[in-house]
Amino acid sequence: MNLGYHGSIDTNFDCMSQCELAIQHLYQNDSMEYSLYLNIPLSVRRNCMAVVPGAGKPPIFLDRDGTIICEVDFLSSPTQVRLIPGVAAAIRRLNRAQRPVIVVTNQPVIAMGKCSERDLAQIHARLKELLASEGAQLDAIYYCPHDPCARTFGGVVELQIECDCRKPKTGMILRAAADFGLDLTNAWLIGDKTVDIRTARNAALRSGLVLTGHGGRDGKYADAPDEVFDALPDAVAHILGPVTEQ
Ligand SMILES: [Mg+2]
Ligand SMILES: [Zn+2]
Repeated sequence: MNLGYHGSIDTNFDCMSQCELAIQHLYQNDSMEYSLYLNIPLSVRRNCMAVVPGAGKPPIFLDRDGTIICEVDFLSSPTQVRLIPGVAAAIRRLNRAQRPVIVVTNQPVIAMGKCSERDLAQIHARLKELLASEGAQLDAIYYCPHDPCARTFGGVVELQIECDCRKPKTGMILRAAADFGLDLTNAWLIGDKTVDIRTARNAALRSGLVLTGHGGRDGKYADAPDEVFDALPDAVAHILGPVTEQ
């Protein structure tokens, strides 16, 4: 069965029979999106992995909000998804260069109860739709739904934990590397917040700060990025070289 890259799993599965349901869901929805708390064993998940084109090439990890799409406080609806100008063409360049493009995004709105995983799946479907309309695709989206500080919002208590995936922790990066057999040598993480730069450092990736979104002005971590770019297209031009196509 041919499994493409897009879609979502939006329910928490925690045992083998539910894993099988999750995989059926994957197939039915042409899915390549993972919540890190699904707890699907890697040996099971690996059976339904699409092979990322050019998996031998260094992957490019991208933050979502403020890097690919316009920053919106507590984004919770697909109608709020707006691509930052130029990002689709930039991601298309990465696709054509066969560089795995993997989104790693903290989504504490899930733990806060401001956005359900079903809403998030719709948001990501919209994101993929917008990219696809310009010939670009994401190879995978990993999101962390946790936040130990979300309690003041009420929200989803079981997600209000110290996890290993919330950036600046490296769980999403390491999970993607294991899932796709990625070599992280010369991999990049591009993001708009200092937490992205700290995550890159923690995972020993090259780091690129984009001046879109928060533009590194959040001041939470003091790490200096390896490079600063006006926006994602400039980061891609640095990584792949200047645009030579039409
Ligand atoms: Mg961001
Ligand atoms: Zn997490």
